[in-house]
Amino acid sequence: MKLLEYEAKMVFKKHGIPTPKGYVVTSAKEAKEKADQIGLPVVVKAQLPVGGRGKAGGIVFADSSLQVFEVANELLGKKVQDLVISKLLIEEKIVILKEIYLGVTVDRKSKQYVILASSEGGVEIEEVAKETPEKIVRHQVDPLLGLKSYHSNLVAKRLGFSGTKMSQFSSLLLKLYKLAIDMDAELTEINPLAEVEDGFIAADARLNVDNNALFRHKELEKKIIESYQGELTQREIEARKKGLTYVELDGDIGVIGNGAGLTMATLDTVMLHKGKAANFLDLGGGASADRIKKAVEFVLNDDRTKTVLVNVLGGITRGDDVAKGIVRAHDKLKTKKPIVVRLMGTNEKEGQRILREAGIMTLDTMEEAANQAVLLTGGE
Ligand code: GDP
Ligand code: MN
Repeated sequence: MKLLEYEAKMVFKKHGIPTPKGYVVTSAKEAKEKADQIGLPVVVKAQLPVGGRGKAGGIVFADSSLQVFEVANELLGKKVQDLVISKLLIEEKIVILKEIYLGVTVDRKSKQYVILASSEGGVEIEEVAKETPEKIVRHQVDPLLGLKSYHSNLVAKRLGFSGTKMSQFSSLLLKLYKLAIDMDAELTEINPLAEVEDGFIAADARLNVDNNALFRHKELEKKIIESYQGELTQREIEARKKGLTYVELDGDIGVIGNGAGLTMATLDTVMLHKGKAANFLDLGGGASADRIKKAVEFVLNDDRTKTVLVNVLGGITRGDDVAKGIVRAHDKLKTKKPIVVRLMGTNEKEGQRILREAGIMTLDTMEEAANQAVLLTGGE
């Protein structure tokens, strides 16, 4: 989950990383008031979960409160990369001696955190990485050892810092690394880290938290629910509450499979037979009859769904459990919507018998089942 700049900066502050004085606002009037309070000049910054706002016109300097008002008016409601700006961060404009890049991210190859730093920070950092990769300092963190001050000192020295600046940078890096660990960050980045007269200030802040660790971050709960609202459809939110792995699509065949790979293959096969799936629903491994009932019910209850296609390869998941779950959902809803099942693996004979007795169609291969589901759905 990506935090907005101002949210990331709140976390930074908590971890003792200096940030410019600033306020988040949602109206031009408020923007002007806060600018007066901070003192001019200020920077008006669009709060969007994307990088490159500077280049896209989302970062504007303002010298007067009238200008702040005008700029805020223009930015609020404007679209950048399909996202609407609804919040602005009004910040004191700091005098930057040098723009540094500093990031902590996960190196998937070594499965370790890696520190990336460059004395050539700023909006062109991608170019620096491409054209002059030697200007990027890299330090891989041994997870058992952690990041020690002799490591962070070394990074600071490699960036060219010495004396007080070296210790200031080094201590900031230790704080950022601790923040990454505490927050289960996939990425945390300061670009630019502003070198100022008496130290460093995080002029920008990025923090992406690993979605699989969100349960450990109750402090982000409000944000998590909000992010669902933006990214997930109403049905997807409902599914998530029921613990189902579900993605809404725009067709009329409800697809249920076990395992993401098999479910994806089922979607492809439906498409190959000129059908359109209404959803992707992965039962996961070892699904119980209850879970299967819940999933089938959920898909059947979708008004857009005309037919349901279930494709299960039983391993730990037992065929008879699958069949019982489907029959229970079918009986409960008394639906006329056809259900087509392809069921193989553990206890397949027993499962197929249960389905046949309940009048539910079973076929032997994914191709046949997908084809049948498309035929039963009928074309327009
Ligand atoms: P991004 O483009 O989305 O990464 O947004 P940033 O917050 O990094 O801002 C883009 C650029 O604006 C930075 O690289 C700086 O050059 C400049 N900038 C941002 N805040 C300040 C500030 O307080 N003072 C000065 N002088 N420049 C700033
Ligand atoms: Mn930036």
